[in-house]
Amino acid sequence: MHIRFLDLSVTGEEQEKHIEAIRKVLNHGILVNGPEVAEFEGMIAKYCGRKFSVGAGSGSDALYLALRAHDIGHGDEVITSSMSWVATANSVALTGATPVFADINEDLNINTDSMKCLLTKKTRAILPVDYAGKIADFEEITSFAKEHGLVVIEDGSQAFGAEKYGRRTGSFGDISAISLNPMKILNGIGEAGIVLTDDENVRKRLESLRYNGTINRETCIEPGMNSRLDTIQAAVLIHRLKNIDNVISKRRKNASLYNEGLRDIEQIRLPLEQNTEKDTFYTYTIQTKDRDRLSAYLSENNIENKVYHPILQPDQPAYINKSAAFKETAEKCVNSILCLPIHEKLREDEILYVIEKIEKYYRGRDNEG
Ligand SMILES: *Cc1c(COP(=O)(O)O)cnc(C)c1O
Repeated sequence: MHIRFLDLSVTGEEQEKHIEAIRKVLNHGILVNGPEVAEFEGMIAKYCGRKFSVGAGSGSDALYLALRAHDIGHGDEVITSSMSWVATANSVALTGATPVFADINEDLNINTDSMKCLLTKKTRAILPVDYAGKIADFEEITSFAKEHGLVVIEDGSQAFGAEKYGRRTGSFGDISAISLNPMKILNGIGEAGIVLTDDENVRKRLESLRYNGTINRETCIEPGMNSRLDTIQAAVLIHRLKNIDNVISKRRKNASLYNEGLRDIEQIRLPLEQNTEKDTFYTYTIQTKDRDRLSAYLSENNIENKVYHPILQPDQPAYINKSAAFKETAEKCVNSILCLPIHEKLREDEILYVIEKIEKYYRGRDNEG
């Protein structure tokens, strides 16, 4: 048995459906801003419980556009989480603003007390991440933001389809950005991202910013970028969004197999859910003190496993010692997290095999030496 961490291949009947969607685009020939883009933007806005969405070339671009659309730039500070893929901090830095880093909770999401400690006169926005498929504590974040007049920008890249208090990822910020790259839960067959808002003026601004800051296609009113969602990606994403509930329920089922199988192993902290939330398990991230040895043991047993993301944002050479950072819990967690394979193509017997090996590691003699 060889257990793959990711399997992005598309075969058989599914491949035919993808080709059919692409063929339609090739036939009408509107390769940029074709009808599929608007159709997808409408569909995903509705799915996330938003009025509008604006497609972008990547999740990183979507975050950058969201910040720009709220006039965040030079001289501003944006509070974000120590634990994320560095695209989050980069989107802030590229606007000219300074990212400052809050600590996390053991659930790997932003710690709101730490967030509050970072408030200064320059703070303009909070950029929480829905980490590893779990929505951040937006009740606390939103009320703090309201109190201090801050913009909330949700990075929902790792939690498409997750729910909390009956609302979905992408609905929690004043503006939200989600990556749709091939590794994500809702994924294109290349780079793609989406920005979500309820504000018509913000939508117009985003549409201008994503096409060189132009209005009426020719006149540039502010510097912008070229970051539109390709028609072909939109066509594929329409097809995949129609099927997303199956993908999510498969991931949730895999997670519950792990929860069930691993819950008696006291050396492991599991990614458990509160009863107000439904996570989508972008990764199934366990925490354990002997992470490196367990990881090596699983690899020896042909079980691919990964550490997302091994360098905290404030520890990246690009950011280290450049701005305020709280990271005590983040430092502890980053040395203990391990992501197990959870993708929707895994069979039940494959998950059970992973569980059996982990049990053997802790219960048997396999962890000696
Ligand atoms: C993937 C990811 C991004 C960046 O998205 P891309 O589409 O790869 O540019 C941003 N933030 C988080 C938390 C991510 O996981």
